[in-house]
Amino acid sequence: MRDTRWLRVLTATLTIAACPAPLSPQATPYPKQDVQQLYQKLLRSIEQIAIFDNHSHPGFANDPDVDAMASPPGSSALRIRADNPELVAASRALFGYPYSDFSAQHAPWLVSRKLQLKQQQGIQYFDSILDKLGIEMVVANRVSMPAYLDPSRFLWAFFVDSFLFPFDNTRIKQRNVDEQVYIPLQEKLLRRELQKAGLEQLPDSFDGYLHFITRVLELNRANRGVAIKFEAAYFRSLKFSDPSQPEAESVYNRYHAGGEPSAADYTVFQDFVFRYLLREACRLNLAVQIHTSVGIGDFFSLENGNILNLESILRDPRYEPVRFVLLHGGLPYEHQAIWLAARNNVFLDSSLDELYLYPSEFKDELKYWLSIYPEKIVFGSDAFPFNDALGAEESYWLGVRSARQALAGALAELVSESAFSEEQAIKIAHGYLHDTAARLYQPSAGAPSALSR
Ligand SMILES: [Zn+2]
Repeated sequence: MRDTRWLRVLTATLTIAACPAPLSPQATPYPKQDVQQLYQKLLRSIEQIAIFDNHSHPGFANDPDVDAMASPPGSSALRIRADNPELVAASRALFGYPYSDFSAQHAPWLVSRKLQLKQQQGIQYFDSILDKLGIEMVVANRVSMPAYLDPSRFLWAFFVDSFLFPFDNTRIKQRNVDEQVYIPLQEKLLRRELQKAGLEQLPDSFDGYLHFITRVLELNRANRGVAIKFEAAYFRSLKFSDPSQPEAESVYNRYHAGGEPSAADYTVFQDFVFRYLLREACRLNLAVQIHTSVGIGDFFSLENGNILNLESILRDPRYEPVRFVLLHGGLPYEHQAIWLAARNNVFLDSSLDELYLYPSEFKDELKYWLSIYPEKIVFGSDAFPFNDALGAEESYWLGVRSARQALAGALAELVSESAFSEEQAIKIAHGYLHDTAARLYQPSAGAPSALSR
């Protein structure tokens, strides 16, 4: 008998061809002619979306608590150098800056204009910057929250790395000039935390040390704390082993009163404390932000800071109730990073990337991420003060504008390529710029829960 299956297939194909064009054709590899028009249209809508900025460092350049870090000597990526002409445009847009550079003759104009506004506006000063840029809420990543930030607009992500460095850190400081800048700041912060908890020195027992950590977390949470923040990648590998409490306790008992632990012993202690912090953050309903990209300083180890080092933590079912936010999306491993967001409790933050990269490059990063797990990406500006004249204000401007443009560009291409509809694109834009983070950091998000060991 003759095989007529091919005929049935052909008939079906012809029937489909005769029908009107399907509503959702297969996506194409290139955008169509309408991409520029779509970009303009989407940008207009995207500019109206109120932003939830989940990671930035608001504050004035002379405020040492604006970050737990300080910049070591070294190179800066082109776009975040203080002579980037885009920043002149920012000062002009926000403050009416009349010059086209920040030369020693011109910059004082900006310093005095800002001072005048600060005096006039007080606690409303940073609010007015947020209002100009369409930012509704900010999670401020700072050492402490100052009186000049409005509590109704600024939540707090506080640093916890200092708890990892309670012993003699001479060997780590000698490693390079970056650590010579960073580690003394961690030691200083630990001394402050001890004072805050009413202690004059490290507790005698490891139990006492863990209680001290918990006490600080509870105090910070009561002061608008919504997240803990790790900068561990600047100091060590993001790969964490799983030592037992007695193993970590034995290191604490040997070194809390003096003496320098071996690298292996220090790591055992830190790995345990890192996991303890995850458990306590979860119990106290705090999100966990982790720096996962390349960092400042010429000695930042890309290998240690590689986001994939966190895989064993992120895919560990024990940590399912912990809300992880992977800051800066793992750059330059952003292509790998997105696959970690498969887990329900893992989110990717795009902050810094939109400052390091120009919108044409950042658009491609967003396009890749949003076409895989669009509901898992959150916006952050990583705004920070450059110097006395050029402040966090200008970097908010650059971050917000770059992200809105790159987002419109990424979505315009995806819509034009028939990946999804314009309606869906707008929904994704709301999720990225606001809704996903607003849910993530809601102080009431999810009931506090305890992790099993
Ligand atoms: Zn940051």
